[in-house]
Amino acid sequence: MRDAFCLFIDAKGTHVNISDDQLQIIVQQVVKRIMDGESVTIPSSASNARGDWGVFDDMSDAIVAAQQAFEQYQRFDIQDRKRFTDTVRHMTLDYKEEFSRMAVEQTKMGRVAHKIAKHVNVAKHASGVEFLQPQSWSGKNGLAIEEYAPWGVIGNISPSTHPSPTMLENIITQLSGGNTIVFNPHPVAKRLNAYVIQRCNQCITKAGGPANLVTCVAEPTLESAELMFRHPTIALLSVTGGPAVVEAAMKHQKPVIAAGPGNPPVLVDETADLALAAKEITTSASFDNNILCIAEKEIFVVESVFNQFMQEMEKQGNHKLIASQMDQLANKALELKGKHWLIGRDYVGRNANVLSQTLGIRLSEAVPLLFGETDAAHPWVVAEQMTPCIPVVRVRNFEDGIEKCVKAEHHFEHTASVFTRDMSCATAFTKALKTDVLVINGGTLRGNGGDSGEAYFSHTIASPTGQGITHPRDFCKRRRIMVAGAMRFV
Ligand code: NAD
Repeated sequence: MRDAFCLFIDAKGTHVNISDDQLQIIVQQVVKRIMDGESVTIPSSASNARGDWGVFDDMSDAIVAAQQAFEQYQRFDIQDRKRFTDTVRHMTLDYKEEFSRMAVEQTKMGRVAHKIAKHVNVAKHASGVEFLQPQSWSGKNGLAIEEYAPWGVIGNISPSTHPSPTMLENIITQLSGGNTIVFNPHPVAKRLNAYVIQRCNQCITKAGGPANLVTCVAEPTLESAELMFRHPTIALLSVTGGPAVVEAAMKHQKPVIAAGPGNPPVLVDETADLALAAKEITTSASFDNNILCIAEKEIFVVESVFNQFMQEMEKQGNHKLIASQMDQLANKALELKGKHWLIGRDYVGRNANVLSQTLGIRLSEAVPLLFGETDAAHPWVVAEQMTPCIPVVRVRNFEDGIEKCVKAEHHFEHTASVFTRDMSCATAFTKALKTDVLVINGGTLRGNGGDSGEAYFSHTIASPTGQGITHPRDFCKRRRIMVAGAMRFV
């Protein structure tokens, strides 16, 4: 909750607005002055050095507050961590509609119903303290035990594509690991992200936790990100975003967990259940208008079943574009910058009917995807385009398909999928693609666990730094204690 402001008249007779926090400081200082005659410094009305439920004007203040919170948080035990993260899970469910509406309003990307589902997945399936089981060894030399210890304050960068789910999932996972967190959110979602931080601190303190376990800067910029990267108090960086932020974070001499870009290819072979493939790909790639890094971005289909697959895609309610329309949309939406094709911000995560309007085609808002044939070198294939427009490429055979998938994936080693009834082909595909997430005969979203898959769920899939789908152990240090010649009871 924002502080209530009251009107105050200073020594020069000027009217100034001050908050409850500032009033408290003034009262404390006046009392001190009466006691020992020291001078009084009234904080400027614009200053927010004590933060507003974790939201600070200044990145340095946000970091100091998270460091002070870490010192207090260390006094709590693992059951307390579970209690605090459970309260964040409950709050996420309570606020899922509001957070989702705010995300669409502020970022103009995706669909509210799908964003609600993402919040539910985070609340129910983000990994927690259960991942921190200690391990022990007991033998003639004594007892050794390894535990997962926090790093301290983690500096986090969150993306525009899932601003609140990523932030909430990072909070649950990293607080479970005993850390506190500073965020430099994406500027486009800064108001939503500040609101999320405030709600988190409110529910955690209500549950008996310390203030400022999570903090952020109200006006995130590249400079505030850089300050966070360099700050000596920040022990570990956790960044989620495109190649630029991954590169920027990795320049620093500190450990980084980097959840970078993906460009997931799908291969459909002649043995596949084509109706299933079309249904699964449609559900997964159209989810939140394809802004998930893990969602299918291009499809390769073996020539002998290509036409049949295209018909199945139409049966799913998708709209087929002819080749010249795919080119036309690419000319509008994609731009070659240096060696890389980049998608224009105004096209990312828009509904399929909004994209089709730019071609003069009127469609219903319910149409999940646009799709059309292109070649393998087409910008729609090469770019991580994050739109509900999917290129479909004809390949000669399975081997040709694997080769083209590897190329389209750019060695991000993030996510890929294959539809085949031949398990030796599926095996060959998994060996060639080497991705952190690989799905056989299902939509790629199923690979991230949660309600449509198995295992835990995370919006932070750290391919560049090798953690894959992250959980609390990834945000901890392993520490071993050895008690020599003692403490054994067998
Ligand atoms: P983005 O790269 O534009 O921004 C991500 C964050 O990085 C933002 O907070 C932004 O302010 C910051 N940033 C960007 N350049 C920076 C720099 N040079 N220095 C410091 N900070 C910088 O990405 P986005 O559009 O918000 O998100 C989409 C991208 O994120 C896609 O590439 C997607 O694949 C990726 N992503 C990956 C995962 C994953 O789990 N691997 C999850 C979500 C998103």
